[in-house]
Amino acid sequence: MTPEALFEGVVRGTPAQQRRAMAKAITLLESTRPDHRAQGDELLTTLLPHAGQALRLGISGVPGVGKSTFIEALGLYLIAQGHRVAVLAVDPSSTVSGGSILGDKTRMEHLSVHEKAYIRPSPSSGTLGGVAEKTREAMLVCEAAGYDVVIVETVGVGQSETAVANMTDMFCLLQLPNAGDDLQAIKKGVMELADLVVINKADIDPDAATRAEAQITSSLRLLGLHGHPEHAHHDTAIWHPKVIQISALLGQGVDSFWSAVCQYRDVQNANGRFAARRQQQAKAWMWERIDAALKQRFRQHPQVQARLGPATDAVLAGALPASTAARQLLELFD
Ligand code: GDP
Repeated sequence: MTPEALFEGVVRGTPAQQRRAMAKAITLLESTRPDHRAQGDELLTTLLPHAGQALRLGISGVPGVGKSTFIEALGLYLIAQGHRVAVLAVDPSSTVSGGSILGDKTRMEHLSVHEKAYIRPSPSSGTLGGVAEKTREAMLVCEAAGYDVVIVETVGVGQSETAVANMTDMFCLLQLPNAGDDLQAIKKGVMELADLVVINKADIDPDAATRAEAQITSSLRLLGLHGHPEHAHHDTAIWHPKVIQISALLGQGVDSFWSAVCQYRDVQNANGRFAARRQQQAKAWMWERIDAALKQRFRQHPQVQARLGPATDAVLAGALPASTAARQLLELFD
């Protein structure tokens, strides 16, 4: 299909045409072939004015915390309220091994077959940066097709949480009610990314969940005071990361989750941060892609390639300062 036909299918197709066109469009965008890349760029440029209307929600948590159970419950809840829900995944394990933590089992049994939902597993090749880029582009396709809630899911391993926080409007961290689970998240710097912390499986041990809620709330307060100056103000126009308890399995707390999300969106809109976050993300994204492309071109440059090995050896042997080697290689590239 041509980019024009894909555009028509995604934006104006019947539900069945739309679904087919979305799958083809995303496959095109995932391709690394230069001619596909050019067609993909053309497609994205035409889709862009139709995208951007969705709420972009990041959801993360360690394997087993209950992400797919929760997304299934949330997705069905939102559809019942008239929304259309897309679920995309960033799975760092699939980029390394080809196997995946998120995608192997049949997940979200009812949501995955619902006509108002669109679920796409993580691209299974490339670096995390590449996979994140493809997911970001797939998100635009879903938005142009009229999905008004886009959920980007990731697992709590590797750097994928930062990547997802950087492409969504709100980043939600799912936690187990175990003591110490929150310490892991704090150590890894993930807690600081969270706009909302969701303690799942509260049905198993309600007391533990309540203790975890108190503990995480006070951790967030400390992080806010010391890490994020914008969280430190006691100003109702500023969002303070919230902590809630749910049971995804029993479907309890999905409504309070969604009302926290809506409250967040309203506060962020009112203080201008919603649009500012997207602008900052788009700009950072552009520079990240420029950095990655430049590095790739640098490595592929024939003269750089010829000199890279000997220069690296000389640096390792202590015969050439690293900074001098870098300068010499960059001169070849110029
Ligand atoms: P994921 O790896 O994060 O996607 O986790 P899953 O959604 O696959 O859930 C892992 C296991 O935890 C499954 O057996 C779920 O049935 C179970 N589970 C998920 N949420 C809850 C919950 O709220 N309460 C209880 N008791 N079990 C849950």
